[in-house]
Amino acid sequence: MTTAPEAIARSPEPPDLAATALRSTDIPRANRIYVNRNLRLDQIEMVGFDMDYTLALYNQAQIEELSMRATLHKLVAAKGYPEEIRGLAYDPMLAVRGLVVDRLNGNIFKPDRYGYPGRARHGLKPIERAQIGELYQRERTRLSNRRYAWIDSLFALPEAVLYAVLVDYFDRTGASGKPDYSTMWEHIRECIDLAHRDGSIKAVVGAQLPGYIERDPHLAETLHKFRSSGKRLFLLTNSAWDYTSQVMSYLLDDPDRGARAYPASYPSWRHYFDVIVVSAGKPEFFTEERPFVELDGEGQPLAKANGSGNGSPAGPFQRGRVYAGGNIKEFQERARASGDRVLFVGDHIYGDMLRSRKSSNWRTAMILQELEHEITTHDRMRQELSRLDRLDAELVHLDSELNERQAALRALQKMSAEGADLEPLTAAKRAVKDAIEKLRRELRETASQHRLVEGQIDDGFNPYWGPIFREGYEVSKFGEQVEAYACVYTSRVSNFRFYSPMQYFRGARDRMPHER
Ligand code: IMP
Ligand code: MG
Repeated sequence: MTTAPEAIARSPEPPDLAATALRSTDIPRANRIYVNRNLRLDQIEMVGFDMDYTLALYNQAQIEELSMRATLHKLVAAKGYPEEIRGLAYDPMLAVRGLVVDRLNGNIFKPDRYGYPGRARHGLKPIERAQIGELYQRERTRLSNRRYAWIDSLFALPEAVLYAVLVDYFDRTGASGKPDYSTMWEHIRECIDLAHRDGSIKAVVGAQLPGYIERDPHLAETLHKFRSSGKRLFLLTNSAWDYTSQVMSYLLDDPDRGARAYPASYPSWRHYFDVIVVSAGKPEFFTEERPFVELDGEGQPLAKANGSGNGSPAGPFQRGRVYAGGNIKEFQERARASGDRVLFVGDHIYGDMLRSRKSSNWRTAMILQELEHEITTHDRMRQELSRLDRLDAELVHLDSELNERQAALRALQKMSAEGADLEPLTAAKRAVKDAIEKLRRELRETASQHRLVEGQIDDGFNPYWGPIFREGYEVSKFGEQVEAYACVYTSRVSNFRFYSPMQYFRGARDRMPHER
């Protein structure tokens, strides 16, 4: 690289910054940090950050539109899809994180924590409940099967939208050369993958960063707060050097000296980080043993890759240098970081959270850009949600009343069969039957009210898929994965500034249903 940044001052600016923290209840709900597993920040020595969708929050509507246009162009130009598909309407609401594509049938569904699809669509049409049962309940839906593709990153949403629209288009028009559903998925995957790799997306984003990436005004302050408490920071991104340096410079460098919070200590974005790793190749970074390669100022590999990958022993990472590739084992040795003293902050449930949790002791914080929308919608729907709770309780009550009356009726019928006194028995049976009929009517009405209110709530989140963390009565598969692999989660990195860098994040006591 060009000049290596000298060690930056660790002295806090202002001096008591590390001590500043708010009471959790004073922090807006959309900005709080939520805890699945206790996390003591005072035990954390190194904090690592993914870049895309973690430090760099994308304007989702803009990036989706760009990814779709780039992919459609390739589908038409390279795969021979009809020109007409460029003009179709692509509603971004058609996809949320946590959906599953069934490439065999051209369907998309949202699984609950058990993998069962609560709602599903074929192209643009919803699939009836009975048919969902036929398709997915006969045998266990194994989401790891190649037949299914899991939409688990925000980069993947346009793929699901394109799939829904194109399945509908080919079904409807029967256009010549219609690929089968599985091939159609492959084509979309191939084209969007290429659009990410050949610069079709990144060149446009890089040229108009303010249109595509949100520059969080509190990011610099947040990183500084971690540093001023003595923690070392690192960057671990799958993006390549040229794109990374453009985006990070946009996020943290000070274009007009003085606009940023701490310009004096941080002459450039690189000064915030003790180790910078690009083209990391997550999730393989966590599972394989690829070498680190040190890059020069142009992002080209240095002739001797810092001793790594060419057989000679590798020394500690050097501040200010840039490394590409690598693996977690060597990272920990060269960064002198011990597993459970590292907190990794990322957005990708598989590449950042699941793989790092399974392959190491790293603690994890997940950035969920959607959380702000989910929480504000939840708060806006408070009345409807309480109504739904009351209707839930009413259904339980009616069910139990009905059971009781049915048991009474069976007892009366048994007495009649045994030849007991007929007249009063007949009257009693009639009364019980009437009560049963009335309860059944009430149950039907309450269930229909329940469907109505649930529908209103779901529409508030997303008209096709409802909230991303729930599927009907259950937590969604995506919600379950967030619970399982993210120690804490929040909507943006800068929310950490509200908390002490020594915070003890305590989760609620986990309880079995019988303990609640
Ligand atoms: P990270 O989140 O900072 O690790 O970076 C994610 C990188 O993966 C970005 O550079 C994306 O452009 C890239 N990316 C996302 N989806 C795809 C894909 O389908 N193919 C290739 N690259 C992708
Ligand atoms: Mg990311």
